[in-house]
Amino acid sequence: MPDTQQQLPKKSSDRTAQAESLFKSYMKEQQFRCTTERIAVLREVYRSNTHLDADEIFIQLKKKKIGISRATVYHTLDLLFKFHLVTKIDLGHKHTHYEKSHGVANHLHVICEQCGKVVEIRNNELANMLETLCKENGFELGSFSLQLFGSCIGEEGEKKCTEKPA
Ligand SMILES: [Zn+2]
Ligand SMILES: [Zn+2]
Repeated sequence: MPDTQQQLPKKSSDRTAQAESLFKSYMKEQQFRCTTERIAVLREVYRSNTHLDADEIFIQLKKKKIGISRATVYHTLDLLFKFHLVTKIDLGHKHTHYEKSHGVANHLHVICEQCGKVVEIRNNELANMLETLCKENGFELGSFSLQLFGSCIGEEGEKKCTEKPA
């Protein structure tokens, strides 16, 4: 797999700070109140290196004694999505997962349908190919997030996964 890590901008703390200031200016533009609760949702998503669902974010914030309602978490995630600061991904559960997207290279997710393991793959060739495909069809590629479903294979490369999800 070609290494595209070097394309990733700056440290994650810079990324979060940038995302935060973008969020604040978008919110101002759209005349939404940029409350500390909403900022806390953004920070939670950017702090995480995995794919969170709204409930997980809600629970994390509760643990930190941040007084926020589930509805506000959902609404804030929708705003973040609208401003291209998070991506929504379908990991084959019945609900949406979210991940940070500002300063994060486009990638695809390979998901094990048995155990739920998720592997992220970044690949330049694929990115270029998608860009070409878009151009050929009269589109300019913005961002992408792809999900592939399958079953993980053991070290020996033979045994298919039979694990139950945790
Ligand atoms: Zn598996
Ligand atoms: Zn991801």
